[in-house]
Amino acid sequence: MAERSTGFASLEGKLALVTGASRGIGRAIATELAAAGAELVLGYRSGKDEADELASELGARAIQADVSSPGDAKRLVEEAGDVDVLVNNAGLTRDGLLARMSDDDWRIVLETNLSSVFYTCRAVTRPMMKKRRGAIVNISSVVGVHGNWGQTNYAASKAGIIGFTKSLARELGSRNIRANVVAPGYVKTQLTDVLPEEATAAMIQATPLARVAEPEEIAGAVRFLASDDAAFITGEVLLVDGGLGM
Ligand code: NAP
Repeated sequence: MAERSTGFASLEGKLALVTGASRGIGRAIATELAAAGAELVLGYRSGKDEADELASELGARAIQADVSSPGDAKRLVEEAGDVDVLVNNAGLTRDGLLARMSDDDWRIVLETNLSSVFYTCRAVTRPMMKKRRGAIVNISSVVGVHGNWGQTNYAASKAGIIGFTKSLARELGSRNIRANVVAPGYVKTQLTDVLPEEATAAMIQATPLARVAEPEEIAGAVRFLASDDAAFITGEVLLVDGGLGM
């Protein structure tokens, strides 16, 4: 196992594709994987300037693709090249009580957060099986494990990621391909910036560590699961939530 000076397993020689890498948690994950030695491909939908800027910072490539579209997701994986590490991070929320939830708010959340994971994983599976190597990390949420008021669509998509990933881990384990989930708690990003102050305060109060996380604190867990430090870990759900979900 190759070592970095920090003692962590290096990702040198590995190609990593991170979706939703233009900002927030995805940006932090891409930065962390690059620091561990990986070559990076950054997927983004609309944040071209942010993605291009990060790409030049990391010596990476940025590729535009709407991962909720099967064609775009497949093209993203093909254009990325010989992917060793796939991180499905792209996601969004359309919160609201079920009684008032529109078909569109249900559909866009399920397609963006869950169907996208199916599309990209399906596209990397065959090449990874051929080389008998690969690591997939899918970003769920503590909400996918415990549910949340006003988030039936989001919770369903994030719970779906967990069942999907565990099934994939069973299918691909014998080919030395690992599939794991990171389930963050409340993280400071544009996704949570829109929430009312009272909701943030309530979340902090329910979190034993009594604060929100920085995106970098999620990225370290992803780097671990993507690397050989986690060589015997598959089908796992790692909650990175300050104790919120226990
Ligand atoms: P964010 O700041 O809103 O960033 C979301 C990213 O996803 C952006 O880069 C966005 O790209 C991309 N994206 C959205 N829809 C896309 C699509 N159809 N195709 C391609 N890319 C798309 O959110 P975040 O907080 O970093 O969240 C990242 C992930 O962590 C999400 O899966 C989220 O559910 C999960 N998570 C977040 C929290 C939290 O507290 N923040 C907690 C648990 C889980 P563009 O900007 O380029 O459109």
